[in-house]
Amino acid sequence: MRIDIMTLFPETVGDMVWDSILGRAQERGYIRVECHQIRDYTVNKQKQVDDYPYGGGGGMIMQADPLYRCWAHICEEAGCRVHTIYMSPAGKIFTQEDAKRLKNDYDRLILVCGHYEGVDERFIEECVDEELSIGDFVLTGGEIPALAVADAVCRLVPGVLASEESFTNESHWDGLLEGPQYSRPELWHDRKVPEILRSGNHAAIAEWRTLQSYSRTRARRPDLWEAFLAREHDKNEAKLLRKLDGQPEK
Ligand code: SAM
Repeated sequence: MRIDIMTLFPETVGDMVWDSILGRAQERGYIRVECHQIRDYTVNKQKQVDDYPYGGGGGMIMQADPLYRCWAHICEEAGCRVHTIYMSPAGKIFTQEDAKRLKNDYDRLILVCGHYEGVDERFIEECVDEELSIGDFVLTGGEIPALAVADAVCRLVPGVLASEESFTNESHWDGLLEGPQYSRPELWHDRKVPEILRSGNHAAIAEWRTLQSYSRTRARRPDLWEAFLAREHDKNEAKLLRKLDGQPEK
């Protein structure tokens, strides 16, 4: 998987993607994340990328042309039109399902980070395939959203994490939240690790974890819980749903 990020802050974004798990995955060649300075694609001396909005109003708008030149350069190097995502608070809310879809459907992605009041709509019309938001709030720039999408997609690429289990057991993989987790020591601030987790009984531990996942999802995310209840359940799920009645969230 290769991701090209178009940004006004390539150093900041670059530092993040060369750190920790993503950095190691880049060194090992499982993924590659390249950052591009949009200012390098201006044709004016001041390297200005923004201008006043038509129709008046406060703030500045990122002009279409520097964005287009940067985008065209990446596509030209790639030898094809690369699937392009504009990070936008007006986009569809990004979910784990989108992360899976992007990882499965594309070898390359371009993520466009806006700034100021946003970008000229004509660039979006001409070059952008989808707009994604990371939530119903507004940030100053698209860098944090782009990093969130790049991270969520890249960690699904085989080899990036130690095993597939590392992400298939997690919140949102199957529409549920993960339950509580514990590490050493066994007793901390008078709080004990639940007995069952130290029992060595793997079947009982798996059942406990599933029940915790159910009760947490039911308590915290009624929207996800409704969707889960509406699904068809296998024998084990049906059994655990019956057991769940009356069980509070941990
Ligand atoms: N005027 C825009 C609007 O009302 O929709 C908001 C512009 S915002 C201040 C500047 C840039 O930050 C956007 O162009 C976008 O790239 C990014 N951004 C802000 N919030 C975001 C969010 N929730 N998800 C994705 N990108 C976001």
